[in-house]
Amino acid sequence: MTPKGTQTIIFFLLTILSVLSIISIYFVLSFTSNRSFLQYKQKYFAEQTYHISYILRTNIETPLTSEKNKELFDKTAQEFATPVHFFNEDFSKIIYTNEMNHTEFAQPFYIDVPIVKEGEPLGYLRAFYDLDQHIGAPALSMFEKNSQNQLRMIIVIALVVTIIINFFLSRILAKPIKQSAYYALKVLRGNREEFVPRNGTEEIKQLIDGINSLLVEFNNVENWRKQMMEDLTHELRTPLTSVLTRLEAIIDGVYPTTTKNLQDIYDEMERLSRLVANVQRLSEAEGARFKLNIEKVNMVHLVKGVYEGFLFIAKQKEIELNFRNPNKPCTAYVDPDRMIQVVTNIISNALKYTARAGKVEIGIESNDDELIIYCKDNGVGIHEDELSLIFNRFYRTDKSRSREYGGSGIGLSISKALVHAHGGEIGVESEPGEGSKFWVGIPIDNQLVSPEK
Ligand code: ADP
Repeated sequence: MTPKGTQTIIFFLLTILSVLSIISIYFVLSFTSNRSFLQYKQKYFAEQTYHISYILRTNIETPLTSEKNKELFDKTAQEFATPVHFFNEDFSKIIYTNEMNHTEFAQPFYIDVPIVKEGEPLGYLRAFYDLDQHIGAPALSMFEKNSQNQLRMIIVIALVVTIIINFFLSRILAKPIKQSAYYALKVLRGNREEFVPRNGTEEIKQLIDGINSLLVEFNNVENWRKQMMEDLTHELRTPLTSVLTRLEAIIDGVYPTTTKNLQDIYDEMERLSRLVANVQRLSEAEGARFKLNIEKVNMVHLVKGVYEGFLFIAKQKEIELNFRNPNKPCTAYVDPDRMIQVVTNIISNALKYTARAGKVEIGIESNDDELIIYCKDNGVGIHEDELSLIFNRFYRTDKSRSREYGGSGIGLSISKALVHAHGGEIGVESEPGEGSKFWVGIPIDNQLVSPEK
């Protein structure tokens, strides 16, 4: 079976529905009009019978069987051309019949009318009619036929009109779906600039919104992939060239194979391998919003846990590391592992970029709709121009010094991706030579919470 277009399906469904409705309307109308005609005929025949009975009543004489009465009966019956019986008072005997046959009538119908003369009942007149025939009422028969034909005509016109309306209606209804399919196909063929126009019913608009957001997402991922490749090749090129040049020089015998030189090459290689590992972590973090394990977390507990893990390193560097307890419950809906990763990154940076005997403070603050984790140090600080750049991947303020600390400029971009995945923000305030304050804001009423949690 070949697949049918939406327009064809809508058209057929509408047509089937309207044909069924029109046929039902036709049957109801023809049933009620037939009934009215029947009632009208019965009334008409009754009036005719009363008319015969009037003639009889005014002219009849006793005894009933007289010759004159027979003539009267014959004349009247002939005039009205319908089978007629005249019964005695108790219907036990037929006094007169005009011998017309009524037994073969398709729809027999009779009316009894009492014949009373001067207050004395003489008998009953019974007139027979065929409701199927219209003897004596040609105008009625014509009217019945005409109205049936008219009804049929109206039904045929209604069918044609609804089919035409259905055709246009199905076109209007299917248009947004066809349009979405057309644009979706365009996207598949590589045109990612155009968005699907937002037309149609509420559900179709939702579907179009879905396609458009997928398109935005797709473009974002595509741009991210391109940018990532560029950044990565740029980052890998320098250490690789350095290693290759040195190895070449060793092969050419111009660079002595001393332990120190080999150690330098080894360090460079180690940095490269760390960079590759970090890139993998970054890629995971940037895709994190698709797989966060959100739960209700006591943030004081979480941040304090990370802080305690750094106490030893801080002591080694003689840095005074403090935790500022908010002394009130601070809960948020977050992925605890990812949050630990973020807090670890900012504390480790603070310790990295703060000189011996410096000071680092970690704390939590909360307001009605946001929870803020901060990490303040009195370290080297960051120049104003670079404040917005340090969250970009591979960005390091002072390349040589950062390298010294083993930095690859990826930590903060990972943190930024993770915080954004939580619907939050990350930022920094800093003065060169004075220190820096990194902060992470997480919305308390997190929309990411899955319903079962
Ligand atoms: P890295 O691995 O180089 O530390 P990050 O992404 O974590 O990468 O940080 C990016 C850059 O931001 C660092 O190279 C450093 O120059 C700067 N930076 C981060 N934290 C601090 C801080 N607390 N004080 C001063 N500079 C910082």
